[in-house]
Amino acid sequence: MSAKVFKLYLHRFIMTVQEKRLVIKSGDVFDSISGSVLPNKSIVIKDRTILWVGSTDGYEKEEGDQIINASGKLVMPGMVECHVHIYATGNPQFEREILRTKTDMYHYHALNNVQKHLQTGFTCVRDAGCYPGVAPALRRILDQGLLAGPRLVVTDKGLWQWGNQEAVSRDPIINFERENDQVLAGVDAVKHAVRDLKYRGAQFVKTATTGGVLHGIESKVSFTLWTEEELEAIVEEAHRNDMHVACHAHGKAGIIKATKAGIDTVEHGSFLDEEAVDLMVKHKTYLIPTQTAAMSLVSPSLIKIMPPEVQKKTIEVDKQMKISHKLAFEKGVKIAIGTDAGTPGNYHGNTGNEVRLMVEDVGMTPIQALQAATIEGARAIWMDEKIGSIEEGKLADLLICNQNPLEDINQITNYKNFSHVIKDGKIMVENGKIVYFSPMKGLPK
Ligand SMILES: [Zn+2]
Repeated sequence: MSAKVFKLYLHRFIMTVQEKRLVIKSGDVFDSISGSVLPNKSIVIKDRTILWVGSTDGYEKEEGDQIINASGKLVMPGMVECHVHIYATGNPQFEREILRTKTDMYHYHALNNVQKHLQTGFTCVRDAGCYPGVAPALRRILDQGLLAGPRLVVTDKGLWQWGNQEAVSRDPIINFERENDQVLAGVDAVKHAVRDLKYRGAQFVKTATTGGVLHGIESKVSFTLWTEEELEAIVEEAHRNDMHVACHAHGKAGIIKATKAGIDTVEHGSFLDEEAVDLMVKHKTYLIPTQTAAMSLVSPSLIKIMPPEVQKKTIEVDKQMKISHKLAFEKGVKIAIGTDAGTPGNYHGNTGNEVRLMVEDVGMTPIQALQAATIEGARAIWMDEKIGSIEEGKLADLLICNQNPLEDINQITNYKNFSHVIKDGKIMVENGKIVYFSPMKGLPK
C-alpha cells in the first residue's frame, strides 16, 4: 500500500471513530461547587468528556458541531441518587412479588427501574444491594453504551450482622433474603467477604449496624450487633480496596458505632441527637436521608397492610427522621440525596421529590438542595473527580432545564421540565422520552 493510500485510509478511519462534538450554547450554568449561576456560558463536549466551558463569545465553531440552543435555560450537572435497590419495583405486596418473580426477571426490572432515574434527571445511581450479579452486570452494559441508562455505582451482596433482624416470613422469603445478603461473624470472615465483593464487581460495601423497619418485632432499630473490631475490619479492608462503605443505621447506637469505625455514608439516620451529629461532623460522615422510604410506608393505603409491629416502627421512624435530619443539617452534617427506591410503595423515578423535601423538611435553600443532589452526592460516593459539576475534563453528565428549579424547587420533580438529559456525552432523554439507542454496526448504510 502506498503512503498516500494509507493516509487516505487512516483519515477515513479517524473520521468514523471521532464523534461529532456536542455543544450546549448560551445557557445559564449552575456551578455546583460555588453554588452560583454563571450566565451565558457554552459547553463543548467531545466523546464522553467536557472539553471546554466558557463565555459564549469564546466558543469557536467547528464543522459538524451539533448545537443545542440553551438560551434562557438552566444547565446543571446530572443529579446523583445515592440509595436505591434497582431489582425491586416498589410493589407494596413485596413478599408476593418475590414468590411470583423468576430471578432472571430481575435483570429486566433493574433496567426498567434505572431508566426511570435517567428520565427524571439522575445520571448516576448507587445501588445499595441487589439480587446477586444483577447490578454489576447492568453497570457494565450501561458503561459500554449498549442501552440508555444512568451511570451505576454498585455493590452486590450486603454484609449483615443479622442476629438482630428477625425475619417473619415463610421459608421461601427467608431463603430469598439469604441469597441477597451474607450473614457474617468475625474479623477474618468480614475481610474475606469484602475481598469477595470486589471480585464480584462491587465498587463499594453495604452493611448495617441496626435492625430494619420492615423486619419483625425483635428487629430493634436501637440495637446493634457488630463488634467494633468487625466494623473496623470492614472499613479497613474496603478502603484498602478503594471501596467506600455505606451503612444502614436507624438508631443512635448504630449510627455512633458506624461513624466511629470510619464508615463513609450513614443511610437513613433516623434517630440522631447532638452527640451523634457532632460525631458525624467530626468524622465528615455523609448522611443519606431516604425520607421518601418512610413517607411511602406511612401512606394510608400502605400502613394498613403492614403487620402491627411494622406500623408502630414506621410511624415512629417517619416522625423522628424529619427532626433528626433538620438537626443534622443545622449542625453541619454533609447530606446527599437517596430515596431507598424499591422498598414498599417507594417507586423508582421519584427522587426529585426527595430533593424538594430537603428544602421543605430539612431547611436547605434551593441552591443547597441542588448541591446535595449533584456535587455532594458525587463526593459521598467517591465519584467527584469524574462527575457532580460542570468542569473541563469531567464526564459529560448534564441536564438542561426549561424552568429554573432554583426559582421554583417544584420544577426538580417535573421530569418533563428537562429538555435534555445527557450522560457520557450522549443525549439520552429529550422532554422525558428516551431517545438514545446504541449505534448500529455492520449494517448497510
Ligand atoms: Zn436500602
